[in-house]
Amino acid sequence: MARPQAKVERPARARAARYIYAFGGGRKDGRADMKELLGGKGANLAEMARLGLPVPPGFTISTEVCTYYYAHGRTYPAALRAQVAEHLARVEKVVGRRFGDPANPLLVSVRSGARASMPGMMDTILNLGLNDATVGGLIEQSGNARFAYDSYRRFVQMYGDVVLELKPESNDEEDPFEIALQEKKRARGVVQDTELEADALRELVDEFKALIRMRKGVDFPEDPQEQLWGAIGAVFRSWMNQRAITYRQIYRIPESWGTAVNVQAMVFGNLGDDCATGVAFTRDVASGEPGLTGEYLPNAQGEDVVAGIRTPLQITKRAAQAWAERNGMAEAERRVERPSLEERMPAVYKELVRHGERLERHYKDVQDLEFTIERGRLWMLQTRVAKRTGIAAVRIAHDLVKSRLISPKTAVLRVEPEQIDQWLHPAFDPAAPRVFLARGLGASPGAAVGEVVFGAEAAVAAAAAGKRVILVRIETSPEDIAGMKAAQGFLTARGGMTSHAAIVARQMGKPCVAGCGALVVDYGKQEMTVARPDGGHVRVVAGQLISIDGAKGEVYEGAVALGPAPASRPEFGRFMKWADEVRRLRVRANADRPEEARIARALGAEGIGLCRTEHMFFEGDRIDAVREMLLADDLAGRERALAKILPMQRQDFVGILREMQGLPVTIRLLDPPLHEFLPHSDRELEELAQKLGVSAATLRAKRDALHEANPMLGHRGCRLGVTYPEIYRMQVRAIMEAACELAREKVKVHPEIMIPLVGAAAELRILREDTEQVAREVQSAAGVKVPFTVGTMIEVPRAAITAGEIASVADFFSFGTNDLTQMTLGLSRDDAGRFLPEYVRKGIYPDDPFVVLDRPGVGALVRMGVEAGRKAKRGLKCGICGEHGGEPSSVAFCHDVGLDYVSCSPYRVPIARLAAAHAALGA
Ligand code: PEP
Ligand code: MG
Repeated sequence: MARPQAKVERPARARAARYIYAFGGGRKDGRADMKELLGGKGANLAEMARLGLPVPPGFTISTEVCTYYYAHGRTYPAALRAQVAEHLARVEKVVGRRFGDPANPLLVSVRSGARASMPGMMDTILNLGLNDATVGGLIEQSGNARFAYDSYRRFVQMYGDVVLELKPESNDEEDPFEIALQEKKRARGVVQDTELEADALRELVDEFKALIRMRKGVDFPEDPQEQLWGAIGAVFRSWMNQRAITYRQIYRIPESWGTAVNVQAMVFGNLGDDCATGVAFTRDVASGEPGLTGEYLPNAQGEDVVAGIRTPLQITKRAAQAWAERNGMAEAERRVERPSLEERMPAVYKELVRHGERLERHYKDVQDLEFTIERGRLWMLQTRVAKRTGIAAVRIAHDLVKSRLISPKTAVLRVEPEQIDQWLHPAFDPAAPRVFLARGLGASPGAAVGEVVFGAEAAVAAAAAGKRVILVRIETSPEDIAGMKAAQGFLTARGGMTSHAAIVARQMGKPCVAGCGALVVDYGKQEMTVARPDGGHVRVVAGQLISIDGAKGEVYEGAVALGPAPASRPEFGRFMKWADEVRRLRVRANADRPEEARIARALGAEGIGLCRTEHMFFEGDRIDAVREMLLADDLAGRERALAKILPMQRQDFVGILREMQGLPVTIRLLDPPLHEFLPHSDRELEELAQKLGVSAATLRAKRDALHEANPMLGHRGCRLGVTYPEIYRMQVRAIMEAACELAREKVKVHPEIMIPLVGAAAELRILREDTEQVAREVQSAAGVKVPFTVGTMIEVPRAAITAGEIASVADFFSFGTNDLTQMTLGLSRDDAGRFLPEYVRKGIYPDDPFVVLDRPGVGALVRMGVEAGRKAKRGLKCGICGEHGGEPSSVAFCHDVGLDYVSCSPYRVPIARLAAAHAALGA
């Protein structure tokens, strides 16, 4: 029997989805925590409106529309048009102007705004709504024809570029709009844009439109509605432009997030001398010092500050005075030429400080503010959590705890582990000689030395060739992002503390000197020149070395020597203590020499997780003894040669064990294949033959005999120990003799002997017996007992799979994830770089598996190894000593699988400490 048809319930009329959220003029539909839907800018505009701050009215088109747009062949949801019309009508009502009204036009800005801030990567359009009719209304409203035509020509230029995509056709071509502008200035005999009169600007509008018609074959749209929809589409499209894609790749922002679009009533900072526009931070984002900082430009539009075309003025008097001092300007002159906002508009300044403090207290974090002053009235255009250097991040987090705004745990979470790096790297040695070249703004602290390159592509190419470079530009733009990533630091001739170069530098944690006005950069000649006071010039060409101090804003010729890092400051110590209080994982260092061990301890290492003994074999003339051992025909000969190495190894271990004062020191016995110790070239081979008094033919025959097709899978690690037991015996003897010597001196020691490349429990059993026998001999000869343990690396997949058996003969496991990655993925550690980047680009692997632990593959083996090992031996100590031990997301994984410690290179120890704290806090 047919089942009765279920009755389909249809709502009388489906309610259209909501795509738009209003803010300002009494509305506050959104909130700060709605960033996913409204993007950062939209959510924070709504929040500022909630706090009663002066925000020009507008609305946000949600990120869902962006997602829809890309999922539906670049079309919009059906209900969007009506919703835009409704919200535009509300803005018209609040402002008292109508969109497209020739008598009293409403102008709007259309801006992107993704969930995560992507400064300068996507597009923005200002002054939208202007056309040949409404420009008259703007003249009427402003009483300023020059202003109106300037706004109009900027709009046509921006629209032409962003929406109609009239761009230079090649890298060498200048922006066609800029060419027309320069031409106009030349024709009118003026130098500055601001000197062009209203009629010249009106002509430019027509010329720009003609340019668009000629180059793009379309007319500039006069209809404001068409302009609006063109701009909305362009902002959504800009989510997929190359700059944005590259930026997302660098900062791991998912493509699926999409951008929102903010449409907002324009306010003007360029109506006259009682107007201004600026960017402020509620604290210094380079150093972390408290107090509002920032820059402004009188009589200007917002883009002018960020673009770095005019050098902005300081907001506070103190900063303005410091600027004048740096640039050798007298105070009286400064007050006239470069008055601070604090002096020029004291009431507005106070209001801005008040809003800044309010926002900082509200968000409990440093804010990055954009504001415009229109005829003496302050408007807040944006607030967001400010990007900051690693130095500032720690200082700010520390100070916010001290003022009880956040808890130490929150402070710990406020600093990304990688940002700690900036505290560890040295600044220039204050005593080092240097040749001063020029001074600019200290836009992002740190010291960098490198060869000068004048373009992003050159920077990428030089870095790929292993060179350290300083990217020098007149000013940087979002197109330079790949070059900036490749460079050690940046130097720009133009732009302030909020210029593109400065912002990106702070974000990437690289040193930057910005706005170095004395530089004359000539891209064509690939050189820069700096005028000297005596009238001469210093010329620096591409490839020459320079040094930049991003804290002081100074540039030097040549390479300046580096000195100690800022990590000795007390706030750093306190901050790291907060991190240590919450972490569970212990952090050790990979160190082979006493000096490295000392650095590691100073940086908080709680032991050595990997001391690679082969480095000791290569040192100085020891290699000769090693080679003699390899050439020996019998055991006696090998033992004679090894006896020469023994005292040297013992001294190495004495040094390291003494330095670590009773902290655990894991010493790994010899690992690399023996042929690595033999000379590679024929010339070297002949020289060695002479030195050793053997024939070149004998030596060559030995080399050929040791040759392996796959040395990484060959005769190395414990396989050497199995076949040449005398080598490991000598090493164990050296370790135990060193330990006994120190124990007799009452120095605490804690050696852990580690056998590499074990794949079968039997290998470890044999070598463990040998080790224990030698240890017993040494201890009884010395008459001292020293506690020691014998463990293994888990770096062969079979070892992870049979970890239960191996655990029965091991005191500890240390995961060697470098080899484990190589062998699990079947990727050569040495050669995969040739194609691996493409694998990452194509998303086959999300990251380079030698950098970020491959959780599904290698991670599964680690988990298996830990679980099986501990099942066989309760509480088995497990650590990691592959490079992943210092990579924050891999550290989080190590925390999750329950490892006892991670071990990484000394300079990554504090990074790993903070990453371990983040993991413990569930970040
Ligand atoms: C490893 O393989 O992860 C390891 C630490 O050893 P090495 O890098 O010396 O092979
Ligand atoms: Mg290894």
